[in-house]
Amino acid sequence: MTMFDLSGKVAVVTGANTGLGQAIAVAMAAAGASIVGVGRSSMDETEAAVRKAGAGFHAIKADLGSIEPTKDIIDETVATFGKLDILINNAGIIRRADAIDFTEADWDAVMDTNLKSVFFLSQAAARHMLDRGSGKIINIASLLSFQGGIRIPSYTASKSGLAGLTRLLACEWAGKGINVNAIAPGYFVTNNTTALREDPERSAGILARIPAGHWGDPAQLGGAAVFLASRASDYVHGIVLPVDGGWLAR
Ligand code: NAP
Repeated sequence: MTMFDLSGKVAVVTGANTGLGQAIAVAMAAAGASIVGVGRSSMDETEAAVRKAGAGFHAIKADLGSIEPTKDIIDETVATFGKLDILINNAGIIRRADAIDFTEADWDAVMDTNLKSVFFLSQAAARHMLDRGSGKIINIASLLSFQGGIRIPSYTASKSGLAGLTRLLACEWAGKGINVNAIAPGYFVTNNTTALREDPERSAGILARIPAGHWGDPAQLGGAAVFLASRASDYVHGIVLPVDGGWLAR
């Protein structure tokens, strides 16, 4: 299992206080990485779980609705742990309304958080990683990187854009020691999907389409993140890896 060992590695996980980000942070900690949790809410629960897994933890308070904190996040990580090996761009939001009624505010908020901040945080991280000649960047994409969906125009645009950005960054940085890849989660039980799960019709329709027969448990995403963060994926560049219970296969 040494191929998947993250001992001695330092990983930044955005939106690590809850949901998929928390599960990814805990999985990476269990594989040996020290974790920097970045977000706008308390990281206490994640910190406790990471420390229970035997790993170091540092919290950085930052609102990724703007790119203003991006450089400081990387600087504080390097000041705390001496380096940065892995960046997980997980923080993201969703706004739901019919396309015909969708507002500029809902467009901008989602694009700024899900796409613009991801690019500029990746740029800041890569400036450090390129100096060291190694690094792993993992973007949390979506099934909406492949499909259209309904009532989430800015979310679909941002996640489809994120798939393209993943490929572009992989093309620019693969030859310089940085792996850039993405994970496309299917339907997982988190705050992001509360509205869907509370709508009996949508919830049943989604469940009926998942070959695995159940919604994803956030813990089921950790293995893919550890894989893409580890030596096991050193020749993997620019992929968007679905972890979706078979949704896209149907
Ligand atoms: P979630 O529970 O809503 O988590 C979203 C995370 O992003 C939270 O930690 C949230 O912090 C953080 N965040 C949002 N806006 C932020 C901002 N301006 N600054 C800093 N942090 C911010 O939902 P989730 O499902 O775990 O989502 C994680 C990622 O997975 C997202 O990119 C989402 O699009 C993606 N995803 C989820 C699913 C799914 O089925 N759940 C499927 C596909 C993709 P707060 O708690 O403070 O708001």
